[in-house]
Amino acid sequence: MNAFEILEKSLLLPSPLIPFCPSWDGAESVSIWVKRDDMIHPVISGNKWRKLAYALRDNQAAEVISFGGGFSNHIHALGYVCYKLKIKFTAIIRGDYSAAPTPMICDLMRWNTQIEYVNRITYQKRNDEQYLSALQTKHPLATIIPEGGSQQAALMGVQELVHEITIPFDAIMAPVASGATLAGITSALGENQTAIGIGVLKGQGYLESLVSQFLPHPINNWVINHNYHCGGYAKVPATLATFCEEFNQTMPFKIEPVYSGKVFWALKNMLSVGFFEPGTKIVIVHTGGLQGARDS
Ligand SMILES: *Cc1c(COP(=O)(O)O)cnc(C)c1O
Repeated sequence: MNAFEILEKSLLLPSPLIPFCPSWDGAESVSIWVKRDDMIHPVISGNKWRKLAYALRDNQAAEVISFGGGFSNHIHALGYVCYKLKIKFTAIIRGDYSAAPTPMICDLMRWNTQIEYVNRITYQKRNDEQYLSALQTKHPLATIIPEGGSQQAALMGVQELVHEITIPFDAIMAPVASGATLAGITSALGENQTAIGIGVLKGQGYLESLVSQFLPHPINNWVINHNYHCGGYAKVPATLATFCEEFNQTMPFKIEPVYSGKVFWALKNMLSVGFFEPGTKIVIVHTGGLQGARDS
């Protein structure tokens, strides 16, 4: 077995699918399951493994470079994977955390990541052709992975998540930030199945264009609901914070307010207004991300 196969063997795959029966208004008339991608691995959480698997499986990269913020689940997962696979990893981080590293950045330091702090202006160039080709010239052997791990190869990994679901279902819900997860889900659905993305940032129109760019041809089996971004990316109004706290005290698994919290908050509200036809079978994808909510 090579290092990749050893790492893959240590993951909980297929991830568990568990029934979810909250005492919320409207929940009694539908059936809900949670696809526990948060359980895949304590560090390589959820959809970030799905998105990285194909990029790294067939690619004996000597070096990997990627981009993210100071709490990025993607950089965290990738940092750990590169450490385990003995791949040199350079993380280009938005903002300067050198004086006050976040828990995520402390982990990166332990995993021998080369950390480059850049200002917002430089970070904005992360997808520009010129910037990327200069970066490639500086690191000729490196594989450059976009922010969030979101690239075409990510879709195949996400599709596996859907193919692991062995029960019949009508709707599947997941958070949407860069769109690759929803695009992967959508492209793996069968007839009469619908994907409902929950936008976790203010981006009506924009998030749809991100998802569409990954899809080889238009499919109309998906929608993005923009009612639950709660003010923007990582914005956590008191109602959402309270919801997540109560959830974590009473439910059999944990959520955080940036991604999964907004999805379950959306689910609760959609159930209460009778959004789903009675009898609908719903799968919620728990994409993980709990590391980003740590205090230490
Ligand atoms: C990155 C992330 C997402 C967003 O996925 P996209 O493919 O960027 O839309 C959702 N949930 C968690 C926990 C994440 O870390």
